[in-house]
Amino acid sequence: MSTVTVKQFGLYMNGSWNVTDEKMDVLDKYTQEVTATISVATKDHVDEAVQGAKQALKKPLSPYARYEILMKSAQLLLERREEFAQVLAVEVGKPIRESRVEIERAAQTLIISAEEAKRIHGEGVPVEAAAGSENRMAFTVRVPVGVIAAITPFNVPVNLVCHKIGPAIAAGNSVVLKPAEVTPICALMLAELMEEAGLPKGVFQVITGDGASIGEWLLENKDVNMFTFTGSPRVGEYIRSKAGLRKVALELGNNSATVVHHDADVAQAASLVAQKSFNNAGQVCISVQRVYVQEQAYDTFIELLKKETEKLVVGNPLDEKTDIGPMIRLREAERVENWVEEAVQQGAVLALGGKRNGALYEPTILTNVHDDMKVCRQEVFGPVVSVATYETEEEVIAKVNDSEYGLQAGLFTNDLKFAMKAAREIEVGGLIVNDASAYRVDHMPYGGVKNSGNGKEGPKYAIEEMTEERLIVLNL
Ligand code: NAD
Repeated sequence: MSTVTVKQFGLYMNGSWNVTDEKMDVLDKYTQEVTATISVATKDHVDEAVQGAKQALKKPLSPYARYEILMKSAQLLLERREEFAQVLAVEVGKPIRESRVEIERAAQTLIISAEEAKRIHGEGVPVEAAAGSENRMAFTVRVPVGVIAAITPFNVPVNLVCHKIGPAIAAGNSVVLKPAEVTPICALMLAELMEEAGLPKGVFQVITGDGASIGEWLLENKDVNMFTFTGSPRVGEYIRSKAGLRKVALELGNNSATVVHHDADVAQAASLVAQKSFNNAGQVCISVQRVYVQEQAYDTFIELLKKETEKLVVGNPLDEKTDIGPMIRLREAERVENWVEEAVQQGAVLALGGKRNGALYEPTILTNVHDDMKVCRQEVFGPVVSVATYETEEEVIAKVNDSEYGLQAGLFTNDLKFAMKAAREIEVGGLIVNDASAYRVDHMPYGGVKNSGNGKEGPKYAIEEMTEERLIVLNL
């Protein structure tokens, strides 16, 4: 039995909880027992929430008030950190130690958003430099976009929600959040917490239920001014195709590469790759998936990687010792199992792992892979890392770039020239030198190129996406 009691959640609309007749179960991902029920929104609920969000814009909060509310929210989250971490571990299947880190980071995201609320500024524009405009002055201000629909994925359901609501509120917008249906509880708890922190009714609404239907109703509603989406490329592309001329920010998938050059600290590289390939059972958008090791370093690297990975404990996420919990659904673990089996049939060698027990999938290392296997070409989003070799710098840069994605990449080298060549030529939103692809702190600009999306997160950068620049010209 899970330690969390079954709780019933309503939709959070205009500061009230609206429990609908139709319900959806939320499962404990380890025991598969029902841990909570959520309400299922209809089109009318969605329209009502959007209207409420629009109304709330009529009573704008001052930047300082936004700062205070976001700081207070962070403080309340930290006070309740263990409760949130336990719920997160149950609803995602994320190991408890990792869940605690997510809560701490989510509080940081709110704090950084609060700080940024005080720094939203435009710039002077020297219109007087144009002939005939000598008596004019101009400047810009940044104004809120308005009503923002935020749609979030299952894997990081507290911090990624904070990466949307923090900057949106800091910039003076209202938000209608649609969390992932399999992991919505923490988002609903955040709504309670933000209300307690003093957020006025309507500024933040949480709508739960069927993702595709709610997505459609939000897209149909012309009072939504912007969509900020984190999730799969398939849904991201659909949202962009339907959003028309409205703003869209997309944080999508990746098949992240990490390069280990011959001159790197190979032990450090193996240890960091072992940690960052299997966090949250590999269900992280910058999880290390493809590792390219220069031939001279390969034997040492693979032995050390196996040794580090063998230490990882698979099991109950609520157990303090666990490093890897279940995948989000049984069918996802079965998909990963099929992809690994297919790769082996195509000539890959299973260096470690490869076994499934229900939704638990062992940390798995494949060698002798080629770039067209699904485990390399597509996003695995599971605890599987593939290791291949390369000879030259040009060859490995081409291999990293031979992907439809481009979120982040890692590069272990002490050769400054190679690092800078890679910085110029590797097609990604972020290159991490002497760490794996999966490095992130919450104030850095974060976002991809190619099919990994567009627009940046990190509160300062998200605020740029979530505001419009308005020009004021004075004829003096
Ligand atoms: P998903 O695309 O299946 O779902 C994401 C959200 O979209 C959910 O809330 C879902 O209910 C909703 N949704 C589903 N159909 C919709 C529709 N037709 N219209 C509007 N919304 C709809 O993704 P997921 O399985 O929850 O998450 C995994 C994916 O997210 C991976 O591809 C991963 O790389 C990506 N991801 C990216 C980042 C990033 O920052 N780049 C971070 C985390 C996850």
